[in-house]
Amino acid sequence: METAPKPHKTEKPLIIPIFIMSSGCPQHCIFCNQKIAAGNFTHDITKNVFDGEVASYLRWNKDKLGGIEIAFYGGNFTGLPPDYQKRLLSWADTYIQKGQVDSIRISTRPDYLDDNQLIFLHRHGVRTIELGAQSFNDEVLHFAGRGHNAQVTVKAITLLKSHGFKTGLHLMAGLPRDTREIFMETLARTVELQPDTARIHPVLVFQDTPLADEFREGRYQPLSLDESVEWCCLAWEKLVPEGIRIIRFGLQTTPEMKQEGAVLAGPFHPSFGSLVYSAIFYSATLKLLRDIPNHVRKLHFQIAERDLSNFRGFNNRNIEAIKKLYPDAQIVIDSHGNGLNGHLLMTTESGKSFSLDIPGLM
Ligand code: SF4
Repeated sequence: METAPKPHKTEKPLIIPIFIMSSGCPQHCIFCNQKIAAGNFTHDITKNVFDGEVASYLRWNKDKLGGIEIAFYGGNFTGLPPDYQKRLLSWADTYIQKGQVDSIRISTRPDYLDDNQLIFLHRHGVRTIELGAQSFNDEVLHFAGRGHNAQVTVKAITLLKSHGFKTGLHLMAGLPRDTREIFMETLARTVELQPDTARIHPVLVFQDTPLADEFREGRYQPLSLDESVEWCCLAWEKLVPEGIRIIRFGLQTTPEMKQEGAVLAGPFHPSFGSLVYSAIFYSATLKLLRDIPNHVRKLHFQIAERDLSNFRGFNNRNIEAIKKLYPDAQIVIDSHGNGLNGHLLMTTESGKSFSLDIPGLM
């Protein structure tokens, strides 16, 4: 029997990203190229640059129900010199004082946190800390050049929770030495640790990285696009019912990624997240169709308008697949602007209805 999913701990906020471009990193992880992953963000974050970035987001998103957060991403925030951390946080804090922003989030390494650091961050408005965990397998972490083991991440998340922070984990799929089984173990450890959120990033091979050399010399092969989508669906199946919200699949596409030669290999797709959500919707639709005989003559689906493209699948592939399974059926799809996200309702020609909810959609 399926158990009811646990309630999710966070609503989706508007996040205003400020990229610190690998600053504060003690070493270089083999896969990382922030110039490609984060795009052409300046290395010299002045007050003007900062204010310009924040203003560009606030202009269009004043009434964000899930709140507004300024996020320092793309490096090891707690590895920055303390004065620089303080300066960046104080700039962000002025927006909190004016009531335009609710809080601050940072991403950082798990091996750069202690009690004093966390007291300092909390005092300066930081409420969410995302950790670059990447994997919970020590061999995978070693070959990724992370410079810390899995136990460090376990300790870090426990410490973050004891200080009252909301927590997020970044996980990578398909690093050197990673396998489907190892990735499943990483998901199981994530469930044990109960972060509020997770991001799942299948590995892309960026130019000018040690991983690019490994790939060129034939020692590393990234996941295929299909494998990556499958692993991400596994993450959805394992984490979401346990109340861990997945806030991103794949890296955000930057203009730099689209330049020739920037991504040497790996499951790069400009709509990677949509591929995963389409697969999630297709799997849910198959569950809904489980007891429907394939000679049925009509299938009428009702879904929320914002789920429509994921329900249809990339290039309509989910609908094409359903047509193959039900060659005699007329397929009717109604979408509703005020429909519940993730709610699928299906009625057959006999008037019998079946419904299903996909948890964790935002
Ligand atoms: S710690 Fe993060 S930002 Fe720094 S090199 Fe590693 S992946 Fe890149």
